[in-house]
Amino acid sequence: MAPFTTIYRSFAEQAERRPDKALFELPDGQRITYRETAKTARRIAARLVADGVTPGDRVAMQVEKSPEAIALYLATLRIGGVFLPLNTAYTGAEMDYFIGDARPRVLVCSPDRLADHSHRAEQGLVVETLGTAGDGTLLDGDGRHEEVFDASADDPAAILYTSGTTGRSKGAVLSHGNLASNCRALLEAWQYTAEDRLIHALPIFHIHGLFVAANMTLTVGASMYYLPKFDVETIVDLLPGATVLMGVPTFYTRLLKNDRLTPEACASMRLFVSGSAPLLASDHQAFEARTGHAILERYGMTETGMNTTNPYTGGPRKPGTVGMPLPGTEIRVADGTTGRPLPDGEVGSIEVRGPNVFTGYWQLPEKTAAEFREDGFFITGDLGRIDEDGYLCIVGRGKDLVISGGYNIYPKEIEELLDAHPTVLESAVIGVPHPDFGETVVAVVVPAPDQHPQEAALLDFVAKDLARFKHPRAMRVVDALPRNVMGKVQKAELRKRYADLFAGADA
Ligand code: ATP
Ligand code: MG
Repeated sequence: MAPFTTIYRSFAEQAERRPDKALFELPDGQRITYRETAKTARRIAARLVADGVTPGDRVAMQVEKSPEAIALYLATLRIGGVFLPLNTAYTGAEMDYFIGDARPRVLVCSPDRLADHSHRAEQGLVVETLGTAGDGTLLDGDGRHEEVFDASADDPAAILYTSGTTGRSKGAVLSHGNLASNCRALLEAWQYTAEDRLIHALPIFHIHGLFVAANMTLTVGASMYYLPKFDVETIVDLLPGATVLMGVPTFYTRLLKNDRLTPEACASMRLFVSGSAPLLASDHQAFEARTGHAILERYGMTETGMNTTNPYTGGPRKPGTVGMPLPGTEIRVADGTTGRPLPDGEVGSIEVRGPNVFTGYWQLPEKTAAEFREDGFFITGDLGRIDEDGYLCIVGRGKDLVISGGYNIYPKEIEELLDAHPTVLESAVIGVPHPDFGETVVAVVVPAPDQHPQEAALLDFVAKDLARFKHPRAMRVVDALPRNVMGKVQKAELRKRYADLFAGADA
């Protein structure tokens, strides 16, 4: 195995090697080089040290996506701090929870939110802003930070809160070794090099945008078109100069609606990646038919970084699967109770072991212990099976499993049938309380453009391919499914919305 090199050191090497290369290319044409980024990081590092940050202290950030925010991340790693990026959408009450839980030494916010945090400053938190240099912001450090913290693989590098899809967000503590090993495995799997130019349109408070897309780019000496947010028109404009797009499924659904998405527009592209939520098989097929590119789907999570990927070369990309384990990562599908591996083809608990797996949930030792098996495998909470070619298929989340009259029902099986109906754009299947069956199945559907799905016809359509106990007992048509910023359907919200649907049903 190659010797351990931190993300920061790999970046610093690239900054020495290609100082004038653009790391960031902004939509307005501005370029920010490796040298400038290294300089900004050093200046911020000096200021953070002056603020009293010592190794192991948390540095929280809630700012809009900018090149300086990445410099802040690098500065934190440089001084041995623990980086804590927070969703810009979090409100005051949510921030109270995260700040109270993580207890950072410094909170970096945007200048317009400074007033919101004045009470925190009174409680001893150092509140900094990341505004324009010369305004007394973090960018006004004197730059005299000399010594790079000598991190070992086990030292904490970041706390990343999970997306909160299944409950309250938990802080996952990721080590320098976690970040570096996962980055190296992805570079190898996707053959990502300094020649690449990435379209980066993801948020940077999430594992995907920060520890996949940004880490890969800045450790290998590549460039990225760096967009404040996903915008179809801008992306289609940029495609002809780019080589890689890393996205979530909704990116592809929206790109497919744009007429300018053609094979010619994608001529320089070598890789389209999707992850963070299931990619619709119909989008996979439509995208390939339209552009000639098969989207590469991969699977990961906050606690483990990336676990699996479909092949870049050496095998087909199979729609409906998330591919095979990354180099160095082990995956098994096991009996949820005992952890005993199941034969291929059987559905069970997806479990992961490897250098990518986090060190534990922040200040939740019991929760951490409960999610690990004795042999070191982490219980992801996802359910899946391994197919005949060794590819992992995700069947759903354990918490979304519907148990009706004692039978297990996997919503994804029903969603795929619904999605295949011409009147349906997309669907979500949930379990709601039922006095007789414990839970029963409800289908929530979004109509395809200009279509009006009819409950009776749709239920007949899916019923012919499903055992009786899986038949949805009700259907609701909605304009859109509730999703978070990563494109994840918020099933907990749907369950809440329809919780009383059968409250009056006879037991
Ligand atoms: P929380 O853990 O707080 O409930 P979350 O699990 O959504 O939230 P993340 O760590 O952002 O938080 O998401 C990881 C989850 O996303 C995985 O466990 C899996 O359920 C889902 N996921 C990621 N990639 C894929 C994929 N390619 N296909 C299907 N699901 C995916
Ligand atoms: Mg999770």
